[in-house]
Amino acid sequence: MKDEHARRRASRTLAVHAGTRRSQYGEVSEAMFLTQGFVYDSAEAAEARFLKASRDEFIYARYGNPTVAMFEDRIAALEGTEDAFATASGMAAVNGALMSMLRAGDHVVAGRALFGSCLYILEEILPRFGVEVTLIDGTDLAAWENAIRPDTKAVFFESVSNPALDVIDIAAVAELAHAVGATVIVDNVFATPTYSRAVELGADVVVYSTTKHVDGQGRCLGGVICGTTEFIRGTAEPYLKHTGGSMSPFNAWVMLKGLEHMGLRVRAQAETAEHIALALEGHPKLARVLHPHLPSHPQHALARAQMEKGGTVIAIDLAGGKDAAFRFLNALEIVIISNNLGDAKSIATHPATTTHQRLPDEQKEMLGITPGLIRLSLGLEDPEDLLADVMAALDAA
Ligand SMILES: *Cc1c(COP(=O)(O)O)cnc(C)c1O
Repeated sequence: MKDEHARRRASRTLAVHAGTRRSQYGEVSEAMFLTQGFVYDSAEAAEARFLKASRDEFIYARYGNPTVAMFEDRIAALEGTEDAFATASGMAAVNGALMSMLRAGDHVVAGRALFGSCLYILEEILPRFGVEVTLIDGTDLAAWENAIRPDTKAVFFESVSNPALDVIDIAAVAELAHAVGATVIVDNVFATPTYSRAVELGADVVVYSTTKHVDGQGRCLGGVICGTTEFIRGTAEPYLKHTGGSMSPFNAWVMLKGLEHMGLRVRAQAETAEHIALALEGHPKLARVLHPHLPSHPQHALARAQMEKGGTVIAIDLAGGKDAAFRFLNALEIVIISNNLGDAKSIATHPATTTHQRLPDEQKEMLGITPGLIRLSLGLEDPEDLLADVMAALDAA
């Protein structure tokens, strides 16, 4: 084999080609196998396939589908894991990764700064099934050290938290977790698959909401769990295929095509995010400007070491509180008010009254979700147009 074939291909190449399965027609663009079922040549063939199906023998789309398999293999190649299982949404991935491996009596430690629905699984669902959950400040390594016990089965955290953009030290937490044999599960949405080094830093399982940067155009829900073949096929798949959390072939096709240009989109969006964060720092109407790659970010050095770019999202805190935040939102002309992120369209969100509305005030305060906090997901528009829009809206606030 020639040298250039022996080395692991670069992610831009993998994002375009990995996982491709061509039909007998030799199509260039990946085919969408929009089918729930598959025909067997004989009764014996059906029996044999139910007994043991190879990776390219399919039974039922809840178990697997060629388009879904292409997406799974492509994102596993990008993430650097042996395998992946695609799910109906990001939450199906988070729930599937946790529920498939945990049982009553197990102990989990999790960073407290989480997406609202992740927090619901950890605080409400897992305890109902006898799983003990300890929530801690994920940026505090001493807190991880105190909370992780010899019987801890898993640790779970968002590598960059939503919406206050705390950065968690994947390598340091993984070292503490692995010392007791716990599985490290990382929700890596804000880092994006483009800037992920999670596996290299020690994560065992990486989950994404592909609704965000992988689709990147706000069309479909999706999620994925990346890990070893043993975890994916032995633990996650049996749980997911029997409980119905699998990704649809149509959504897998959208995600597969999204991966081809995700790197280019995410790089442009992350550059815009950093440019706008830098321009807004010190603005008299802002109490805080948060972006992991700003020198003023509390975990700036860690963010630089862990992520090649700071991601596509920034958070700004209007000193005038909720009223100022609402005036700002209502004055935006290009940036839309919504709650997705990683989209080609720039999106502004007021977490305290929308995505994190459910949380009690003291918990909001602990997570930095102040009344003036706005989460801005930067899209693919012209960076100067976006900056002008944000500056004009700040004037109006
Ligand atoms: C959006 C998001 C999820 C949930 O994903 P869905 O696709 O909406 O189910 C989970 N974690 C993080 C960090 C997210 O941003």
